[in-house]
Amino acid sequence: MKTFDIHKVRADFPLLKREVNGKPLVYLDNGATTQKPQSVIDAIIHYYSDMNSNVHRGVHYLSQISTDAFEVTRRKVKDFINAAEEVEVIITKGTTDSINLVAQCYGKAFIGEGDEIIISAMEHHSNIVPWQMLCDEKGCVLKVIPMDERGMLDMEAYAKLFSDRTKIVSVTYVSNALGTINPVEEIISVAHKHDVPVLLDAAQAVQHIAVDVQKLDVDFLVFSGHKMYAPTGVGVLYGKAKWLNAMPPYQGGGDMIKDVSFEKTTYNELPFKFEAGTPNIEAGICLAAAIDYINEIGIDNIKAYEDELLAYATAKLGEIEGVRIVGTADKKSSVLSFVVDGVHPYDIGVILDKQGIAVRTGHHCAQPIMDQFEIPGTVRASLAMYNTKEDVDAFIAGLERALNMLR
Ligand code: PMP
Repeated sequence: MKTFDIHKVRADFPLLKREVNGKPLVYLDNGATTQKPQSVIDAIIHYYSDMNSNVHRGVHYLSQISTDAFEVTRRKVKDFINAAEEVEVIITKGTTDSINLVAQCYGKAFIGEGDEIIISAMEHHSNIVPWQMLCDEKGCVLKVIPMDERGMLDMEAYAKLFSDRTKIVSVTYVSNALGTINPVEEIISVAHKHDVPVLLDAAQAVQHIAVDVQKLDVDFLVFSGHKMYAPTGVGVLYGKAKWLNAMPPYQGGGDMIKDVSFEKTTYNELPFKFEAGTPNIEAGICLAAAIDYINEIGIDNIKAYEDELLAYATAKLGEIEGVRIVGTADKKSSVLSFVVDGVHPYDIGVILDKQGIAVRTGHHCAQPIMDQFEIPGTVRASLAMYNTKEDVDAFIAGLERALNMLR
């Protein structure tokens, strides 16, 4: 087994060396986006310096090497999530784009008036709104798996939500606002007993936890490159070929067609059927470098290291008077959300920023969670593999300073 060398990992991320507001940066907003290792930055420079060209179209040399590199990413994603076939990997703009694609295309093919869609109480807006838009369009109904006060899904209630009108279950693997790791194996097996497919939002999962789509037997899995050390503007939709083949295309345009005439257009095969127009070629190609980086460190090493760090941070935070951690599930990943009696989260965030400590404050694009807990928002510290106990100590000291000023 490879060993996890935190000093080496930190040295790989140039941005971590900078100061913010005259203080060494402590970056704890990884749930929003991660910093990029030098290898990914080098891959971006390499792409524009040596190979920039459109993909899938040209006969010329540069176009061929760009196309090949783009397809290397598809292969690496396939291996990263253990998909059965490369054609099951659709390169999108990100998680939001991937979920909208499934809502629109699966919705068009399989969902009609009076049909039901199950989501959960802890979804990011991007796994709520696309389904609501479909419901407005088609007259279908959204059902919501309830969550308890610790931020864990009520699995008994979930099992009772199914009817013969249920057409899809779409839930998050890991909550971005609470850190809860959901029991996705059970969620999938219950749905499959009703012959209902499952979409997993893995935006907060793939950078922390080994994901094997065949072992999970999940029907769709989506994630974003920028939260897993790759550039913004690229993401993934994994779908079982049987579903993707049965769905109509998403957008019309170049590359997704076989033949076009004014009378009739025929569509391309998978995966190109769902990849209309010029993609974000640079980000697509550089996603491979991010996957290489994660593989080099080892996802199990990353998980073990981050779990230890989360336990350390949770204990430290729990010692501060008046702090209430929001989301205390049995299984959690890399997220610490909290409120402090009598203090607004935003004010804490501003004073932490003055000390060079980056956290996120607010509803984290998950307003229904905040409504359930009857809070305006939380302060969220979210960890990545390059964070350290020293980062946590600086954050705790910064928080104590902020609270001394605010209380
Ligand atoms: N789902 C979850 C769980 C997320 O954390 C995020 C990003 N915060 C998204 C979906 C949306 O991802 P993106 O903005 O990259 O499309």
